[in-house]
Amino acid sequence: MMMTFADKVLVWFDQHGRKDLPWQQNPTPYRVWVSEIMLQQTQVATVIPYYERFMQRFPDVQTLADAPQDDVLKHWEGLGYYSRARNLHKTAQQVRDEYAGAFPTTLPSMEALAGIGRSTAAAILSLSHGQREAILDGNVKRVLARYHAIAGWSGEPRTLKQLWEHAEQHLPASRNADYTQAMMDMGATLCTRSKPLCLLCPLQDGCQAFQQGRPHDYPGKRPKKNLPEKSAIALLLRNHDGELLLQHRPPTGIWGGLWSFPEFANETAMHDWLAQHIGQNGTVSARLPILTHTFSHYRLHLQPLQVDLDVQPARIMEGNGWLWYKAGTHFTGGLSAAVRQFFQNIDSTTEEIT
Ligand code: SF4
Repeated sequence: MMMTFADKVLVWFDQHGRKDLPWQQNPTPYRVWVSEIMLQQTQVATVIPYYERFMQRFPDVQTLADAPQDDVLKHWEGLGYYSRARNLHKTAQQVRDEYAGAFPTTLPSMEALAGIGRSTAAAILSLSHGQREAILDGNVKRVLARYHAIAGWSGEPRTLKQLWEHAEQHLPASRNADYTQAMMDMGATLCTRSKPLCLLCPLQDGCQAFQQGRPHDYPGKRPKKNLPEKSAIALLLRNHDGELLLQHRPPTGIWGGLWSFPEFANETAMHDWLAQHIGQNGTVSARLPILTHTFSHYRLHLQPLQVDLDVQPARIMEGNGWLWYKAGTHFTGGLSAAVRQFFQNIDSTTEEIT
């Protein structure tokens, strides 16, 4: 009898698939969900230590739901894309409050939870309960686009629809959890973006991209767009104890909910703010190298200006979303990439600026 696509994938999985990842042990919906969210923009090897620390601190959905947001962001610090952590926290509260702490078991209700799209919802149901649901993450899109020689970009609805149809069409009648894991593994280890190992691939004889000799042409690329450039001033306001003023950013937008340097459109706006809120202009003591951060929709160039307070006032601005932070001291909140990059830079140049 001819082997189906899924048969070949499962035979390969039995020999080569990954079976010892931390979230494969005791794969409850909660554990699978956290891993799926962490893996969305981050590679497995990077995720593992974060995942283990996160699970130690938040072993179940109740603990996560009850934790302060700062604590959740702290455990996410360095993984980036912080809206994932905020949504994770919000979703945990939704599961606690609306589902009595147990994740829903149907695709539509799972998808209705914050930050859980169709593929993630399917992955949770498949990996934790073995439900027959198709996933379509970046790895699976690549395998299917190559296997079926689908040339379009998956951001286009027509191409996405085709990929979903293929994902569903190939589902096996049983062993759905293994199949889901196998498809993720094949995309991550065999059918990789830059070096597909076609000679080792169990799908080789049916793969159209391989037969055409051009796997790299699939999937189709996103049409290029130039990111807009923005610039701003980051105020490094230093008091007489060497502490820097940090601002708790609003919950949405870039670095939402993290602590960062106050930002201003230009120097005039910064000086106006200093005069109004601190009661003195301060002295610009250093213009530090520009910090550049690329977000999905623009590139931000931050010019850090170090301003030393002329007079040491009482502990101004403390509380209400502001605090004075000393590098290297224990801090329970999450720090923005700008702050972390700044402190990493000064580790090696401490004499110049202290
Ligand atoms: S044969 Fe090559 S291109 Fe086709 S699915 Fe396998 S690894 Fe990917």
